[in-house]
Amino acid sequence: MDSQQFREAATATIDEIITYFDTLGSRGVVSAVEPGYLRKLLPAEAPQDGEPWADIQKDIEAKIMPGITHWSHPGFHAFFPCATSYPSILGELYSAALSGACFNWICSPAVTELETVVLDWLAKLLGLPACFLSTGPTRGGGVIQGSASEAILTAMVAARDKYLRETLPFPYPLPSSTSSPATDSSDTDTETANAREEAIARKRARMVALGTTLTHSSARKAAQILGVRFRAVRVSARDGYALTAPALAAALAECRAQGLEPFFLAATLGTTDVCSVDDFAGVAEALDADYEAAAAAGVVFSGGGDGFGGRHGDGDGAGDGQRTTTNNGCAAVAGAQGQSRPGEVWVHVDAAYAGAALVCPEVQARVRIGLIERFHSFDMNMHKWLLVNFDASCFFVRDRDWLVRALGVNQAVYGNKASDGGLVTDYREWQIPLGRRFRSLKIWFVLRSYGVKGLQEYIRRTIALGEQFAASLRAREDLFEIVAGPSFALTVFRLAARSEGETLEERNALTRALYEKVNATGKIWLTSTVLDGRFAIRLMTGVRTTEREHVEAAVKTLVEVAEEVMKG
Ligand code: PLP
Repeated sequence: MDSQQFREAATATIDEIITYFDTLGSRGVVSAVEPGYLRKLLPAEAPQDGEPWADIQKDIEAKIMPGITHWSHPGFHAFFPCATSYPSILGELYSAALSGACFNWICSPAVTELETVVLDWLAKLLGLPACFLSTGPTRGGGVIQGSASEAILTAMVAARDKYLRETLPFPYPLPSSTSSPATDSSDTDTETANAREEAIARKRARMVALGTTLTHSSARKAAQILGVRFRAVRVSARDGYALTAPALAAALAECRAQGLEPFFLAATLGTTDVCSVDDFAGVAEALDADYEAAAAAGVVFSGGGDGFGGRHGDGDGAGDGQRTTTNNGCAAVAGAQGQSRPGEVWVHVDAAYAGAALVCPEVQARVRIGLIERFHSFDMNMHKWLLVNFDASCFFVRDRDWLVRALGVNQAVYGNKASDGGLVTDYREWQIPLGRRFRSLKIWFVLRSYGVKGLQEYIRRTIALGEQFAASLRAREDLFEIVAGPSFALTVFRLAARSEGETLEERNALTRALYEKVNATGKIWLTSTVLDGRFAIRLMTGVRTTEREHVEAAVKTLVEVAEEVMKG
């Protein structure tokens, strides 16, 4: 394809994309194809000769569109949104044109520097405490990750590394000469190295990541990948499905009593099932009390300066009972934003979806976002509810060195003057992959095109749609019962009881029938969950194209089908 052909093809493509958005409401929301549909439509092999763009483009409507579920459809009320917008699409175009694996600053200084700037803009816009800014007092900062799952894994890797450095009675990670004994090592060196490896293995086996029964499954998956335990604290309707101080305190106490070592907690701002928000003040309070109690019991010894002296009370093996000082340089984070205490539990705030609503100052005040200055990391997906297309997961840490220590590995081929001189940020050290795309462009375009006011207007409008929906359900208490919400444009509901004697199973079956019949209409798409054994339906109103009339239409469909199900 030459430049002229590209000009024509791109014009035709943009035209088709615009028509797609303009007529989106006339399509069914969910793809209706059967598994394997596409193989039947495509040749078994790639073509020998290149084809003209016009022929290729035709296949988008003919072969691809039937297999597309339309996440920007106004009737898409499932899961959470997966955003897109014209400015974001333009960002992707430039990013594709400027393609590079921009892992180091020198690989394209603009890629790194724009990311740092726009993530600082975003942190300020969301009202995050200054410690999460690259210019803040604690060497914090943000980095774009592919997904919230990647962010939580990255946070957990850093937390594990930080915990081991601060609590093992010897340097961690081990110097390479001792971590993998060289053949010419003396027997004594080898024995010491083996004993250390053993101590690390024992400690890892006791390390626990905590979450709740409504924490997103990515936290459990991260623990699984890292080979550490995961414990879910039960949350219930009584506490609004939020993690509270007493529940966390009980879980921590249970872990300590069992000789386990909590090192990570996933707190959530906007759980996937019901959009509940954990009690940040309660979390901080419970962790403080646990830390004090553990320190008093000799489980964690406070260190300071460039090393953390003291014994970690393993009580079961190599490395125990020694009073040593690590030389890992893991200084406590100084400054107004709070000290990091050695061996403390790392708190990651997963705000994957609802974090977007923090663009509104009233939401910042309601969730008391300032409290997270006590915590260690925060992540939100602009690609969910903030008009940037997938992928744009914005991950912030209070001290970037926590990431760099855990993930910054050297390989001669990546050395360069700027990096070696410590002058620049190399984002490869803040993430799991090496290469990275120019993702900040689309964020920059969206922030500039909509402006703060435009983003606030969008979030407030979609939250109001959620309230409109919940009010319509309340007006039909004969048919529906709200189980949770509306919260951040999400309402969770089930069918009202038909009679006093109706069992949970009967009501679950009827609610499921409602859910399946409504989805079968193809007009809207809903997802479901199970809360304390109750089958419930989730309806989210965050999609950019959804307007009042679409919510009214969704209510109409639900009422019609619910009346039918109730009668049946
Ligand atoms: N955390 C929460 C609260 C979520 O709702 C989700 C997905 O919806 C995730 C994490 C995982 O998001 P991702 O697909 O970006 O990994």
